[in-house]
Amino acid sequence: MIVLRVSERRPVDTPRMWEGGEVSRVRFLIAVVASSGRRWSKMAALLVAWSGSTALPAHGQTPAAPAAGKAAPAAKPSRATILRGEYGALRANNDLLYYHLDIRVDPKEQALGGTNTIRFRMLKDDSKIQLDLNPSLSVDKIVFRDVALKFEREFSAVFVTFPETLKEGQVYSIDFHYSGKPASTGRFGGISFRKDPAGRPWIYTSCEMQGASVWWPCKDQWRDEVESMDLSVTIPKELVDASNGRLVGKKDLGDGTTRWDWHVSYPINSYCVSLNIGQYEHFADSLGDLTLDFYVLPENLEKAKKQFAQAKGMLEAFQHYFGEYPFKKDGYKLIEVPYAGMEHQSAVTYGNRYANGYLERDWTGVGISTRFDFIIVHESGHEWFGNSISAADRSDMWIHEGWTTYLEVLYVEFMYGRADALKYVNAYKARVRNASRIIGNRGENVSPPGDQYFKGALFLNTLRSVVDDDTRWWALLRGLHERFKHKNIMTEDLVEYFNRETGKDLTPVFDQYLRHAAIPVLELKFDEAKVSYRWKADEKAFAMPVRVGSKDNWQVIHPTTEWQTTTTALKKDEFEVATDLYYIGVSKKSSEG
Ligand SMILES: [Zn+2]
Repeated sequence: MIVLRVSERRPVDTPRMWEGGEVSRVRFLIAVVASSGRRWSKMAALLVAWSGSTALPAHGQTPAAPAAGKAAPAAKPSRATILRGEYGALRANNDLLYYHLDIRVDPKEQALGGTNTIRFRMLKDDSKIQLDLNPSLSVDKIVFRDVALKFEREFSAVFVTFPETLKEGQVYSIDFHYSGKPASTGRFGGISFRKDPAGRPWIYTSCEMQGASVWWPCKDQWRDEVESMDLSVTIPKELVDASNGRLVGKKDLGDGTTRWDWHVSYPINSYCVSLNIGQYEHFADSLGDLTLDFYVLPENLEKAKKQFAQAKGMLEAFQHYFGEYPFKKDGYKLIEVPYAGMEHQSAVTYGNRYANGYLERDWTGVGISTRFDFIIVHESGHEWFGNSISAADRSDMWIHEGWTTYLEVLYVEFMYGRADALKYVNAYKARVRNASRIIGNRGENVSPPGDQYFKGALFLNTLRSVVDDDTRWWALLRGLHERFKHKNIMTEDLVEYFNRETGKDLTPVFDQYLRHAAIPVLELKFDEAKVSYRWKADEKAFAMPVRVGSKDNWQVIHPTTEWQTTTTALKKDEFEVATDLYYIGVSKKSSEG
């Protein structure tokens, strides 16, 4: 997902970028709702973090349900919120294996309908499971072994009751039939039935905020993913459907419609499942043995061939840092849409006007953003962070957005060098608010504040400085993707990884940046030829080395939250701190006041 500033005009062909949110003081919109977080208890952290020899569950498997954290000071979430966000017992009792979403889409009626075949393994004996479907759509029937099952609906939840107890370890399959006219809501519409500029039908989905259940029935949460999926989309024969995965084939059904069959060979987030239906032109390319496919409106074909050439450099950069493109069997695709863009897995949607920068602007304002297409780089970066490594709860969405914003920085470093990368990442400081913590309440399906992007990236730049050994840092990044690829994880898993691999206790550092609003402030007190220093931080155990002194001859000090003193030949005004390498505040005082 991306954020958009609105200090300049919004394109007419872009859906409303923001619904019911807040405009920040710095005049840019964040497509998120600020949340007051509750701190995970150590017990919960222990439950989620992997314990050495135990392998993390892959996307298709279900990790342990979260333990209850400390009571949140915020208002009690509503029943609808709990049903949407919580990994409750009727979700946790099963593990998704496979979907076959087979639907017919009618552009004229702005309607759709069909079946989702849902295969799952029971993790405990039970006779009931929770699925999800927006109330604007009707459940026609849910069939299990030729028998229509009983179900109850409550907000978006659909509770399905089986006539017998489903047994732990056994695999079951149901056919969920549904139909209706889905309600278009939220930032990118969820699902939109529109026309392209030439008046041809253009139907597209982008539903990270609302959830996939705005247009199809599924287990709509972040923790559990199917291991593979088929999508069959029947549409008027003059149209094209570009969805996730590999195009298996298309079949003329002889009634004026064509069915497009796509196969996804990997775990996939429900919100990444995407329809993009239009009168697209297709062209193809490759990078080594990775297929690249592009779907664009006919009038943009030449522009697209030029602009989308950037996809190769982007893929080379990210493969350099994180290893092979994580969805190789499915290939990589860019698909034109009228909104800015979205990270739909192996089917990245693109609406950045075939121009560099972000919607034709210098996004970071330091002359670097205009050298590349922000949407190609950012949304495709999510293939590694968001799609391959996924957060298991929306509270930890910085794993998607903070990391992907940092991937922008790595792209700049790969293309233009370290100095420009530092300039780029530090320009994001202007967008950070430090008004609330990045990690919010688990189980409430609320996006963290915009700081998850910019502060997230600045934090990772800081972490690199803490590691203070680039060879080690690059190995840590590669190892990280290798360790967690195709898995759903929480921040605790990342902390555990970095602690283990570096042999340092970085927990208070992660906690300060992600679980508190304020950044650490380096307090310096000067007294003749001496300087005293300490961190002012919410985390009592906060300790982080930092480079100080003068640019030509940095000295690394190891402040904690207790005062320490060292000698310096530098006066207060001459004494510098490497604030481009660490995202910190600095407070300087003379001891005489
Ligand atoms: Zn994003």
